[in-house]
Formats: sequence, structure tokens, C-alpha cells
Amino acid sequence: MTQGERVRPGIGELLGSPADDRRIAFEGAQGISPWQARFILLKGTNPLFRRGRLGKLLRYPRWVATSQHQRNDMGPSSNSSSLEAALRDVVGSDQVLTRPEELFVYEADGLTHHSARPRAVILPATTEEVARVVKACRKHEVPFVPRGAGTGLSGGALALADGVIIECARMNRILRVDPGDRFAVVQPGVVNADLSKAVLQHGLFYAPDPSSQQACTLGGNVAENSGGPHTLKYGTTTNHVLALELVLPDGNVVRLGSPTGWPAGYDLVGAVVGSEGTLGIVTEATVRLTPIPERTETLLGIFPDVVSACRAVGAIIRSGLVPAAMEIVDRRTIEAVEASVYAAGLPTDAGAVLIMELDGPAVAVGVQAERTQALALAEGAREVQVARDEEERQRFWRARKGAFGAMGRLAPDLYVNDAVVPRRKLPEILEAVCAIGDKHGLRLSNVFHAGDGNLHPNISFDRRDADELARVLKAGKEILQLCVEAGGVISGEHGIGTEKRDYMGLLFSDDDLDAMKKLRAAFDPTLTCNPGKLFPTTRFCYEANPKARGYDQVPLG
Ligand SMILES: Cc1cc2nc3c(=O)[nH]c(=O)nc-3n(C[C@H](O)[C@H](O)[C@H](O)COP(=O)(O)OP(=O)(O)OC[C@H]3O[C@@H](n4cnc5c(N)ncnc54)[C@H](O)[C@@H]3O)c2cc1C
Repeated sequence: MTQGERVRPGIGELLGSPADDRRIAFEGAQGISPWQARFILLKGTNPLFRRGRLGKLLRYPRWVATSQHQRNDMGPSSNSSSLEAALRDVVGSDQVLTRPEELFVYEADGLTHHSARPRAVILPATTEEVARVVKACRKHEVPFVPRGAGTGLSGGALALADGVIIECARMNRILRVDPGDRFAVVQPGVVNADLSKAVLQHGLFYAPDPSSQQACTLGGNVAENSGGPHTLKYGTTTNHVLALELVLPDGNVVRLGSPTGWPAGYDLVGAVVGSEGTLGIVTEATVRLTPIPERTETLLGIFPDVVSACRAVGAIIRSGLVPAAMEIVDRRTIEAVEASVYAAGLPTDAGAVLIMELDGPAVAVGVQAERTQALALAEGAREVQVARDEEERQRFWRARKGAFGAMGRLAPDLYVNDAVVPRRKLPEILEAVCAIGDKHGLRLSNVFHAGDGNLHPNISFDRRDADELARVLKAGKEILQLCVEAGGVISGEHGIGTEKRDYMGLLFSDDDLDAMKKLRAAFDPTLTCNPGKLFPTTRFCYEANPKARGYDQVPLG
């Protein structure tokens, strides 16, 4: 491949792309597989997109290998037709998608090798509509799944067993901002980054910042308890959700928590955050807003290898400093970034770079930055650059935030693993993770939230190669086993979904899982809300709900 040559776009590249870049991606899409096309169309989950230029592409998708452009009436049974009629009655015909080329977009989320075509996609605009849609699905005994932007990386937003997707994209309004008490009330379809932009004028921001924040929604963030680079200091989504409005799986609407953050009774907000859409549909969230720090210093440590960068992370935390973020980008990722539109001038001969950000009161941050710099140098950094201005700071971050997108250049598919290990074990675990990749002959790179011990080994592969896909899955499992044996957990932020449900046993006993199932059953005794996720399915679903069929079938390939 010659330098500058454009290859197939990757999902992250598209998610983070400026408009022009997307146009190029579309123009380049003619020769790509339907799988890749689906992610080009992810942006099409926004109804505004669908009606515009993207809508034209959707109506005439040259690359969609289907001859079924006629209406799909949700299957042959009268039960299906009467459900379709009931749904159209609630939201209007325009907001019920059933054509194959429309459903195609919703067959997968960011975990491209798991897929299931929904029976229909419904786009409600209000809580009342969501409640009525849920009641209609319940009445017809059809499972339903909430969906935000579909950027999830664990198959959580898939509609298994011929279920219906309830997409929250039209519920995208910021309902209230209270700068005095520092909270905002938002609908679930608000895009994460848009909230921070909207409250900037008050000197506030919304702290959880997943790298997908230009696309992912607050509803999805709540469901996945999303984190981000600044989780190290500010915590994950659960630390920022004060109250929720939830449409229960029986269609009733409840309010949990309070804007003060002090709930009476059980902490049910805590239970819903991170429940991956299995306890109901979030239709409103009251979230904490955080004052923008007075001063921010961003440092870029350049290390000979990833292991010494990990050691520096440990040394900095042990010293008592609490940086806002510490993110490692390894050599293979640097190479991909520097060859992409996200090129940030990182040295391609470095083994790894460590982005270290400190923020807080101006008097403290300067001193903390000096100490951080000294510690990084003592642990083997050959150089530590300090961002001179906001532009340079953004340049450092561009390398990190564009990393997933840049990997779209390496191969058609990217498997983003997600696990957490005790921070002190990072150096040895990173070595072992790379050895697993080598053993299976895979292209494995690392870009991760090092300060939290949250690993993201990324494997670039081609899913059309069955042998390579099998090796990817094997390596993924071995990495999770390694992390659990080291005292870690099997997900830091991407959730369990369909991807890791059968690995829950690595971490939890049957008694542990039974306790979780009882909590779930208290919200959803018939298991109609996002079935087939989180739990090892075969025993649970069939025992608890004999009508549940096919939840354990997630086609791979
Ligand atoms: C390039 C890239 C980078 C990423 N970086 C990060 C990162 O740094 N940190 C991180 O945590 N994640 C990251 N992710 C994963 C993903 O973006 C997050 O999990 C995000 O929260 C998903 O939001 P979404 O709106 O896309 O949700 P979806 O993918 O649509 O859904 C995710 C889950 O949420 C449920 N859900 C959606 N809306 C609702 C609702 N209203 N009520 C109840 N349940 C609902 C769905 O059923 C599903 O189980 C990244 C993904 C990509 C592609």
C-alpha cells in the first residue's frame, strides 16, 4: 500500500470522521462487503440522516446483496401483522422500519461478527410512545431491545429471537440545565459530546467521555456504565447519574433517584446503570455536571516499550498523584494513527506513548505536572513533551481518540477486547497479552485506559477468513482468562452483551449469577426486555421462560 492511499473505512474512522471524510468513505464503499457497509450506515440510525442524502443511499444501496426491496410485513403470521399495525398506530408508519435494507443497518453493533436481523425497528419520540410500544410487544409476546447509536462493542443492542428494536434517536433533547445545582435532565438519545457543548457556556461539562462520544448516546452510556479516558479521576457513568425515568418491561413508567443524588430506599439507579438494557428502557436521565477545571496540563511521554510505560503509570499513582487521565498507545497503534487522517506527529520509532493529563486549581497543577514528568523520565521515558497550548493538547488527544478509526486501515474488521487488571500487574499482563496474539499469529495492538488498568487489546482481522476468526475468538477468551486469573474482571466498560455472556462463569459462581437473575426477574419476570444478553443463556432463558427460543443463537461469521 502506498502512503496516503485510502483503504476501506473502519467503524471508528467513520464514527469520528469529519463530514468530508464520510463522503469519501461513502464514495469508496462500492467495493466493500455488506458488513462494512452496515457501519458506514451507522450514522443513518439518526432519522435526520435517513431522510437526507443518506436516505437516498439507503433506498438504492448498490452494495446490499438483496433482491427483497419490497415491504416485509414482519413475517407471515397474523400475530405479526397485528403487532405491526399496533406499532404503526403508536408512532406513525414513518417511524416503523421493516424493509430489509432498513433493518440491515440494525443487524449488528460495533461487534461486527455477531449479528441478528430485527423483525422491525421502532422510533418513538416520547416516553408515552415508548411505554405503548413496550405494551404492544408484551401483548404479542415479542421481545424488544432498546438501542442508542449502536456503537456498543459487545452485541448488546442486537435483537435476538426475531425481536423488535426500540431506537431512542428521536428522543434527543436536553430538557433542562440547572447550572446552580449543576445537573442536566436529558432524553436518552442525546449524543454524549453534545451535552458538554451545550453546558460549556455555564463553565460546566459532562465528565464521562467515551472515545465514541461524538456518536454514542446518554441512554447507551447509562446502560453500559460507560467510562472514558478521564474515568481515572472522574469515575464512570454511574458516578454521574442522579435520577432516571424508566419504562419498565411491562410498560409502566417509574422514576428512580432524585436530582440531589440522595435516593430514599434501595439504590435502584445504581442497579439500572450498567444493566445493559435488560431492566427497562431509560427515557430520561438526570446527570451531574462538573465545573471545567481552572487549569489543564497535558504531557506526552515517549517510551522505548509498552512495559516501561506501564511501570511509569504505577509509579505516578503510587506517588499519590491522581491525574485526570493516563492513556497508553502502543507502537502498532502509533503506526496506524500516523498513516491515517488522525496523524499527530507521534514518533513511529517509539515503543509506546503515554498521555498524562492533570487538571484542577492552577496553583497545584503546575507542580503536579513537573512531578509527573520527573517520574515518567525516571521510569525510562526518553522524552516527555508538555503541550504548549490547546492546539497541541488536541494533537496529543487526536492520536488517542482516532486510534480505533485509524485501525480501519489495517484490516476490514477490528475486535476490541475489554478487560481490567490490577494496575500493578499491567507490565506483566501486557507482555502476556502480546504473547497470546503472537501465538495465534494475529495482528494485536494496544490502546487503553492504563490509569484504570482497563486494557483494550485490539485484533485486526478479516471475518471472511473463518480460520482467522476462530483464532481471534480463541485469543479473546485466553486474554479474558489471563485477566481474571490476575485478579481482574472481564469488562471495564464495553459490557457483556452476547459477546461475553458465556464467560460470566469465569468470574461468578452459580449462586452469584442466580442473585443477579433474581434482580433481573424483579424488573422483567417474562424476560422480554433485551433477552439473551449478560447471562449464559441456555439454562436461564429456557428454564425461566419456555417461550424463549433462539436467544442462544447469535450467528457468527
Ligand atoms: C470507536 C469506539 C470507541 C469506544 N470507546 C469507548 C470508551 O472509551 N468507553 C466506553 O465505555 N465505551 C466505548 N465504546 C463503546 C460504546 O460506544 C459505549 O458502550 C456506548 O455507551 C454505547 O452507546 P450507544 O448509544 O451506541 O448504545 P448502543 O450500542 O445502541 O446500546 C448499548 C447498550 O445500551 C442499551 N441501551 C441503549 N439505549 C438504551 C436506553 N435508552 N435504555 C436502556 N438501555 C439502552 C442497548 O440495549 C445495549 O444493550 C466505544 C465504541 C466505539 C465504536
